[in-house]
Amino acid sequence: MFGGRLWRRTEGDVNFPKGVSRRQFVSGVMSSAALACLPKTAGAFAGGAAFEDLLLQGGRPHGPEGRVTLLAAPFPMEQVRLLDGPFLDATKANLQYLHSLPVDRLVHNFRVNAGLASTAEPLGGWEAPDCELRGHFTGHFLSACALAYASTGDVELKTKGEAVVAELAKCQDAKGNGYLSAFPESFFDRLSDGKGVWAPFYTLHKIMAGNLDMYTYCQSEQALAVAEGMARWMGHWTNGISDDHMQRILKTEYGGTNEALYNLSAITGKWQYFRTATRFEQPDYFGPLAGHRDELKGLHTNTNIPKVIGAARRYELTGDPYYHEVAEYFWEEVTQERAYVTGGTSNGEGWDTDAGNLSKALSLWSEECCCGYNMLKLTRHVHQWTADPRYMDYYERTLFNSRLGTQHPDNGMKMYYFPLETGYWKFFHSQFNSFWCCTGTGVEEFSKFTDTIYSHNEHDVFVNLFIASEVRWPEKGLTVRQKTSFPEQEGTSITVKAEKPVQAGINIRIPSWAADGGTVELNGKALPVFSSPGSYLRITREWADGDRLEVKLPMRLRTEPLLGDRTQVAALYGPIVLAGRLGAEGLTEAMQFDPDHGPTQLAPPHAEAKGSANIFAKSAEEIRTAAWLEPVKGQPLTFTTVGQKNATMLIPLNQIFGERYAVYWKTSTHAEDSDS
Ligand SMILES: [Zn+2]
Repeated sequence: MFGGRLWRRTEGDVNFPKGVSRRQFVSGVMSSAALACLPKTAGAFAGGAAFEDLLLQGGRPHGPEGRVTLLAAPFPMEQVRLLDGPFLDATKANLQYLHSLPVDRLVHNFRVNAGLASTAEPLGGWEAPDCELRGHFTGHFLSACALAYASTGDVELKTKGEAVVAELAKCQDAKGNGYLSAFPESFFDRLSDGKGVWAPFYTLHKIMAGNLDMYTYCQSEQALAVAEGMARWMGHWTNGISDDHMQRILKTEYGGTNEALYNLSAITGKWQYFRTATRFEQPDYFGPLAGHRDELKGLHTNTNIPKVIGAARRYELTGDPYYHEVAEYFWEEVTQERAYVTGGTSNGEGWDTDAGNLSKALSLWSEECCCGYNMLKLTRHVHQWTADPRYMDYYERTLFNSRLGTQHPDNGMKMYYFPLETGYWKFFHSQFNSFWCCTGTGVEEFSKFTDTIYSHNEHDVFVNLFIASEVRWPEKGLTVRQKTSFPEQEGTSITVKAEKPVQAGINIRIPSWAADGGTVELNGKALPVFSSPGSYLRITREWADGDRLEVKLPMRLRTEPLLGDRTQVAALYGPIVLAGRLGAEGLTEAMQFDPDHGPTQLAPPHAEAKGSANIFAKSAEEIRTAAWLEPVKGQPLTFTTVGQKNATMLIPLNQIFGERYAVYWKTSTHAEDSDS
């Protein structure tokens, strides 16, 4: 999100690439290589026209699953349950926060805007009655309630979500034209007239997506009707706008409006929503991506990830390879050329450097949390098309390092920026006075940790992530239970429950970080096979009740350089990014939490970094292999620097709270460069 007062900028300032027509790029990208990697069913339905024909035949010819064969679709969250571990703990802290938010306060601005009485105390921050983004969090809240219900079965949150939907429906009815928002329609006049307004379609997207989630996970027909009303209003509004004018309008952040409308068209089988979705598309942005050109420099990061998730959805619904290229190339470029060691991306909310160069991009404002959330969302799409374990390497990296540690364990408050410059600390929102974009994506993320731990195709289950949990596969009469204290435990224990013996494959991800010595035992006997790092180990057999797999995935210490600057490195153990502990000197509570009164702060004001992280080693090889680190005996995942003037302790970045830290270390291999 454009971060309000701090980072507000418009993309009107950015030089967009010269427009190239969509069709030119379709022909450009349809090389035989590109075709070869497409699932077989995709080609037959290439192009929007075929999809349109199918839709016009009526009914629901396609369904949400679309036209693309999914090689590894995530299991529905309803079939997955977390067991004791850090993800369940984090889920519980998030649920506690969701339970603490009152319905009447969440719908207050909507009621006022619809001319209905409300005596509730308004919320603050980006939900304050004078904030142009008001209403966005109520949408996120609906998504979070729906996802939490699917993930944990929390009926109270389902009921709470339904109560919000019922109130929103009243507000929508009062307006009478489908419009539903906490701010007046005149905001859209300002948008149309280029008069400056924060992000009205972005906000509507959150509200529509929230209602869609309430339908999808809680079967709320009322929520679907609300979403359809909003989509009809959007269709009507955009109908009056020319293509050129629409392109100017789309320079203002609009979130994943295209994705939500594609989802709605898939759910309802109604072509008109699909057509409205296509109005929220920028050929000037997608064109270079489809042509495999990185022209992302200068763009606002979190504005531009959800658009690509919409492209991924359009590919799934139509099989059109253009959108496949957009999504896959974008994923590749961001994760390989524009991501930190944590998997996160953006600095000061933007991509302001050339590809592959983050040497000047470590700051207090690194890595907006929303970006990690949206990259995980995109990764789920590209992974399910291919079952390529590389996507899950990135997913694991980002989930454990960029997401898990961005919630305060005591109260469920989330972060906005994730500072990666040495000497800063984590800063969290307040209960009722922040409601940042990242509060919104945060409450969603921490409601859906059951997502994508496991995937499946017709015959096989994929164990993507090592998280204590259980997945039920009723079609197979099979349950797979994972007990692990990963990453403290370097591996996982899998138990099969089966009513009767069942033939299936279990694919266990062997991560790219796995060190030598990995093994797998079946019922206590070592199997004579393993798989190389960065692959799935597939074990097929007739599984019987009680079958056990014991998987050992040895971890090792290593470093990774910052993109564009090999003298700065981060340390990892397995997939876990380590943070140097720099102490809590001068850190007050006020410096760690947004105040619950007054204007919201996205980061601590006047924040000053303290402490340094310098490493001297004899050789580049010593730096690369993290020879300057040693494990601390008796303390899992804890390390200390060795051979330096002062020893610094390191623990997982996702476990550091209330303390200054270092992720990247400045290295030198000459004694005179060593820091004192
Ligand atoms: Zn955000």
